[in-house]
Order: sequence, then structure tokens, then C-alpha cells
Amino acid sequence: MNTYKIAVIEGDGIGKEVVPAAIEVLDTVAKLDGSFQFEWTYFPWGCDYYLEHGEMMPEDGIETLKQYDQIFLGAVGMPNIVPDHISLWGLLIKIRRGLKQSINVRPAKLLAGLESPLKNPQNFDITVVRENSEGEYSDSGGRIHNGADEIAIQNAIFTRKGTERAMRYAFELAKNSNKHVTSATKSNGLTYSMPFWDEVFEEVKKDYPDIDTAVNHIDALAAFFVMKPQAFDIIVASNLFGDILTDLGGAIMGSIGIAPAANLNIEREYPSMFEPVHGSAPDIAGLGIANPIGQIWTGKMMLDFLGHHEAGARILNAIEKTLASGIKTGDLGGTATLAEVKNSIIGNL
Ligand code: ATP
Repeated sequence: MNTYKIAVIEGDGIGKEVVPAAIEVLDTVAKLDGSFQFEWTYFPWGCDYYLEHGEMMPEDGIETLKQYDQIFLGAVGMPNIVPDHISLWGLLIKIRRGLKQSINVRPAKLLAGLESPLKNPQNFDITVVRENSEGEYSDSGGRIHNGADEIAIQNAIFTRKGTERAMRYAFELAKNSNKHVTSATKSNGLTYSMPFWDEVFEEVKKDYPDIDTAVNHIDALAAFFVMKPQAFDIIVASNLFGDILTDLGGAIMGSIGIAPAANLNIEREYPSMFEPVHGSAPDIAGLGIANPIGQIWTGKMMLDFLGHHEAGARILNAIEKTLASGIKTGDLGGTATLAEVKNSIIGNL
């Protein structure tokens, strides 16, 4: 029997509610499968920890996390008490960069039983592979002068290594699932970075002659997400483009409360981190009404990454059954509590 050592960071707000619910689901599916189990180790890091210790996580936190197979994270942030840049850079970004989680994967899929805000959504099932370590989100640039003479420079940094890594990951995903790959570009407006991005895409695709490809400018792609999301399988995008596109993906699915995500160290040298798209949702924290599906689906992505695809599929089926039976939290227009949704999913497993 495989035992996976998982570091758990519930974090703040609804993270403390949705993570225990997802762990219950994951333990149940592990028991039903019988070939693996989880050993959960909890770390109380986040904004409460910051208020007590003056840091979001201990100095040696990254070293501690390296001892685990994967990281399962809820949400981090208490915007009214701890400034967002402290909670973000003191924990999330520190982990993503410290553990070289260079790929961010976010699916957008129309689940059975869910209402998309699109008027007539076809059955879409998209996976966005977002470069997670460089590109437009690079700490490079500066500001000089004041007033009317003020200048701000923000550099976007694209390395061949980082660009190629994201693209190869997208092609490997497509290869294993018989899908096609779309590259998100903007080479008609950005004159250095995106022509480079296009060139690397042309090179990488030669290694995958059986996979169909397309190249779309990001503005057109955003429109297509609304007009015909069913036309896409795997999309590879830079850090900024992927960030924007995946929020749109979450929106057309029906609620940010169901959208899952993974920050992957694809070399498997360090643990990867699985965290839903949504944040700590302070407006509904502690009320027991948060939607646990985003966190539970994120757990399914962790299972997939660990190679347990059958167990992962079982979770997604159980989620769809629950939604189809009308058991939904308020963000999806229902009246169910977090516990009712979680118990229904466990029942459906
Ligand atoms: P962050 O900066 O951490 O992303 P945020 O407040 O900007 O935080 P979210 O925490 O994702 O963003 O919340 C955005 C809105 O979506 C809030 O109104 C919140 O209540 C709602 N929301 C987010 N997650 C869920 C969930 N799991 N269930 C129900 N509603 C949710």
C-alpha cells in the first residue's frame, strides 16, 4: 500500500472549512480504492500565524515542506487585517517559487447539473496550462522621477527554458488524452516576447506531429471562451494571459467556488501544491455555507498527479451526481450547507 505524506495548510477564512471536508472525501476514496492512503500533517501557517509570529510561515518553512510528497492548501488572506502583498509574497509565492512550481494547471469544464452564465453552453472541457514562474509577472523593472516626469518600467521575462517547459507539458497532456493544443499569443502587439513565444511553439510542436495545434491571440481567445468554449482542449499560456483566461474559465463554469487548480513541480524534485482558485472569502467564512467543491476537485487533481486517475474520476463523478441532484451551496443558487454537499459527495462515492 502506498502512503502519501501530505503537508496540509488550511490557511485562512473558508480554507479552514473546505480543507477538512476535502480531506474527508480523499480519505474515503482512498479507503474505497484500497491501494493507497494519506498521512496528513497540519501546518498552522497563514494570517493568524503572522499576527502571532510576525511572519506567514517559519524561516525554514520551505525546507520543512520539501520532506512531504505534496502540499494541500486551502486559501490564504485576511485583507482587512494583513495586507494582501504580505500574505501573498510571505506564503503562496514563496512556496510556488521556492519549490519551483513552474506550471499552473486549471481546468474549466461544464459539470453536469451546473448552470453556466453562458446562454447556450455546449459541453466544454478545457485545461489551461499556465507558465507559473516568469513572463509578465517578473520582479524586474523600476520607477523613477515624480509627477509629470514619472516613469514606470515593468519587464516581462521569457526564457527559452520556461517557455518550452510549459509548452512541452501541454503537449504531453494532449498526447495522453488525444486532444489538441492551442497557444495563447499576442504577437501582433507585443513585438519581442510573443514572437519568441510563437517561435518556440513552432519548434516544440514538431516533436508532436500527431497533435493538432492552433494559435490564437489572447483577445480573440477571451471572446471565444464566451462564444465557443467547446472548441478548446488544452491551452498553453503565459503567466498573465493564463491568469486572466482561467478566471474567465471559472466564471463560465458557474462559480469560482468550484474551480480547482494545481501548482506543479513537473520535474517531481519538490512537492507540488494543490489549491483551489478561490480565496479565503472572508464575507462567508465561519458560516458553514462555503462551497467545498473547488477544494474537493483540487484533491482530485492531486490524485491524478499521483497517478490515481480512477480514484480521481470517481470523485468528479460523485461531485456531478451531487450537483445533478440539486444539492448546491448558495453561490450556485442552492440552499445546501457545506456539510450537506460534502456528505452527499461522500455518499455518491
Ligand atoms: P483573494 O484575494 O484571496 O482571491 P477575494 O475575496 O478577492 O480573495 P475570493 O475569496 O475568491 O476572492 O471571493 C470572491 C467572492 O466569491 C466572495 O464573494 C466569496 O464569498 C465568493 N466565494 C469564493 N469562494 C467561494 C466558495 N468556495 N463558496 C462560496 N462562495 C465563494
